[in-house]
Amino acid sequence: MNCNISLCFSLIVMSLMLTITVVPVTADEYEMEVNEYTQPEQEAESAETTPSETELSGEVTIEPLLTDTQVVPESDESIESVEAMASEYIAEPEVPVEMQPFRILDNEISPGTMRRLSWYTSENLAGLTEGIPVLVAHGTSPGPRLCIVAAVHGDELNGIEIVRSLLHELSPVKLSGTVIGVPIVNLYGFRQGSRYLADRRDLNRYFPGRPGGSAASRIAHSFFNSVVVHCDYLIDLHTGSFHRTNLPQIRADLNNEGVLHLTKGFGATVVLQGKGVRGSLRAAAVKAGIPALTLEVGEPMRYQPDEVAHGVKGLRSLLNHLGLVSTFRFWREPQPTYYRSSWVRADNEGILRSIIKLGQSVKVGDLLGTIVDPITNARSEIRSPHNGRVLGMSLNQTMMPGYAAYHIGIRKTEEELVEEDVDDDNATDEDDDDPAESDAGEE
Ligand SMILES: [Zn+2]
Repeated sequence: MNCNISLCFSLIVMSLMLTITVVPVTADEYEMEVNEYTQPEQEAESAETTPSETELSGEVTIEPLLTDTQVVPESDESIESVEAMASEYIAEPEVPVEMQPFRILDNEISPGTMRRLSWYTSENLAGLTEGIPVLVAHGTSPGPRLCIVAAVHGDELNGIEIVRSLLHELSPVKLSGTVIGVPIVNLYGFRQGSRYLADRRDLNRYFPGRPGGSAASRIAHSFFNSVVVHCDYLIDLHTGSFHRTNLPQIRADLNNEGVLHLTKGFGATVVLQGKGVRGSLRAAAVKAGIPALTLEVGEPMRYQPDEVAHGVKGLRSLLNHLGLVSTFRFWREPQPTYYRSSWVRADNEGILRSIIKLGQSVKVGDLLGTIVDPITNARSEIRSPHNGRVLGMSLNQTMMPGYAAYHIGIRKTEEELVEEDVDDDNATDEDDDDPAESDAGEE
């Protein structure tokens, strides 16, 4: 056929429009047709996959989509041109946007697949020379990239289990967007049963990190730039620290609109307002323009089924809220927000015996627990200095003067007073920070 290129394009576009207008097709069918144009490229890529990669991935691959009547473009260049022109001319119905492969950690993830990749720090540090697993579920239609990370503190097991169970129940072919799960960021700490890195530093004080900084700072920098920069939203999972337990709770800076939007997806989970300590992953992410929050559930060193179930349910609800899935139900039981909190500290040495239960509401003067000196038999009381709710507390253990024993969410504002009668049973809150390092229980 003897014609110039633009005329050819016009013919192709016209035939495309005819196909769309004359033959009634569903949105899914149309998406299949659009997908055909890039199929040869995708096939070529998958052919290059090495056996070891395949072995690692356990991936689900979309079957090639073929139809009898297929417009075959002449070149890659013309594919783009035709699509561009089609989208320019066809305003109604909406043209589905094609899902692109997702590039992360030197890999390219095809739409509709689940892969297990590895993040390597650039540092030759004990426990971190091997790859840290990063699970990626890449959907078949566009949507947000949600990152869920756990065990930045290596001894916090509940978050690890939350990421595992949530990621492995996802079906990438039904996802609109991408979910990136990192079950154990601090693999060294996990193996040692330690909150810290090999150099005894708290990784959650060094984000976003510096390439020439301390070991912790370098690891933070590597993780931030290899994984976190790919996230549109980030959830950092934590538990209480040092034999303390936390009611399931969100820690978030509600002054940030994106963060506020995130918090509304978690259903029956209380929210504690706070910017997060300097160097924490969530504070660094928010500063980098990535809405982020911390979800605290339970205590360190243990797997707690109820707390894990709460976290998984909250995240399922969030996936729905963000439009990543339509299969999970949105959890509609909003919980109160606490704009202030305070740690009540022990003034005496001895063994703590708590009277109060996690999540319980308290009034000024209520007895929270007693401390008994095992040698002198002296008994002292810890009473609440606030009206509020126990969002976190020490497990019964040895107390030293100054040790943070009870974390009280304080009701002060009018909004909180209005919400007070709604409050009670469900509690999900905890502090991912060592309260000893800051006053008033801020992260
Ligand atoms: Zn933590």
